[in-house]
Amino acid sequence: MALVVQKFGGTSVGSIERIQHVARLALDSQARGDDVVLVVSAMSGETNRLVELAMQIRPIPFSQEYDLLISSGEQIAVGLVTLAINTEAERRGWLKKGEIAAKGLLGYQVGIFTDSIFSKARIQGIDTTRLKSLISSRVIPVIAGFQGVDPESNITTLGRGGSDTSAVAIAAALKADDCEIYTDVDGVYTTDPRLCSDAKKLDRISYEEMMELASLGAKVLQIRSVELAAKYRLPLHVRSSFSSVEGTRVVSQDLLGEQMEQVVVSGVAADGAQVKMTLQNLTEGPGVAAKIFGALSRASIVVDVIIQDIPASGMLTISFTVGRVDHLKAREVLEDLKEQSLPSMRIAEEGDLAKVSVVGVGMQHHPGVASKMFQLLADAGISIKLITTSEIKISCLIASGQMKQAVECLHRGFELHRM
Ligand code: ASP
Ligand code: MG
Repeated sequence: MALVVQKFGGTSVGSIERIQHVARLALDSQARGDDVVLVVSAMSGETNRLVELAMQIRPIPFSQEYDLLISSGEQIAVGLVTLAINTEAERRGWLKKGEIAAKGLLGYQVGIFTDSIFSKARIQGIDTTRLKSLISSRVIPVIAGFQGVDPESNITTLGRGGSDTSAVAIAAALKADDCEIYTDVDGVYTTDPRLCSDAKKLDRISYEEMMELASLGAKVLQIRSVELAAKYRLPLHVRSSFSSVEGTRVVSQDLLGEQMEQVVVSGVAADGAQVKMTLQNLTEGPGVAAKIFGALSRASIVVDVIIQDIPASGMLTISFTVGRVDHLKAREVLEDLKEQSLPSMRIAEEGDLAKVSVVGVGMQHHPGVASKMFQLLADAGISIKLITTSEIKISCLIASGQMKQAVECLHRGFELHRM
């Protein structure tokens, strides 16, 4: 008998029919002898709807009341899924009088404790007492993903896509045997199938590759969920709730086997929502970069592709990219900094940029991947604005209008259609 955490979100709970289907899947797993814990996120489109409502009042909304608002989609989904499970169990004649098959719980009811960084909170601990007692009485806990509670009893949220992280954290805390992430695609693809019809499903992928792909905009898993899974060496199974086919296993690199090492590039990622910020006319001296990036990091803004150069004038220029969601917040932080301590600084911005990246653990042992990537883009007439690399990834910033074309030419050029 295994303990399985199953996470359902978005389109998997997108309608009453889909929710009833989730209820049947969960009860079927239980009937096979497994103990099941569900983590659910909001019905598709719901969180976006709530974000848009908040935006009409204030464009930089990260705050207590914002998290209170955008966490509410999960409460609806938990209520409906729990209702569906109990109704289905009753229909199957599995319940005696007064018994329940499932119990819905919000983050604070479980005891999912986080810090107080609203909209990007980190889980600091999970109380498993209540969950364990439900599991031992064969009741399925249905837990609201994406949310937790801070030391002041405020509701917090874990960042968009955060219910994946909830599921992994709960699986780790319960020492579950398996963590299944159900989505509307049947696994992790070599690239986004909506951008490139040649995309192929991967049977396995390493945590490291998945982290890079997730950080680069592959939206199938929230990056923090993969970091957490890697830390606890918890295998993830990304699969579809619309079919019973095997999905993609996200596992540690040593389980991939030698064959996978031969694959130099295993995915192409694209993120079309990048803004390049350029800070000009900075006075050179120790600590300038530390001051700027320190302020951004205290505001929990993730920056990428940092470039610093000193033009002939002797004044310093620093460029970097941020995701469009963080852009207004970043500008606010920089303007404060200018006022307080960097008066000569000029802030320039360029939007409508996309980041395309190739990722693969095999890259570590094969030279020439970067030059091949640049050549493929050049042949397609795409110019590169910034470049950044890591051990297993190369990213280029390009005009967002050329993103689809770039993905297609890289996917073909690295022969991913043959995977
Ligand atoms: N409902 C939240 C969101 O849309 C969390 C999630 O889907 O994982 O970001
Ligand atoms: Mg998601």
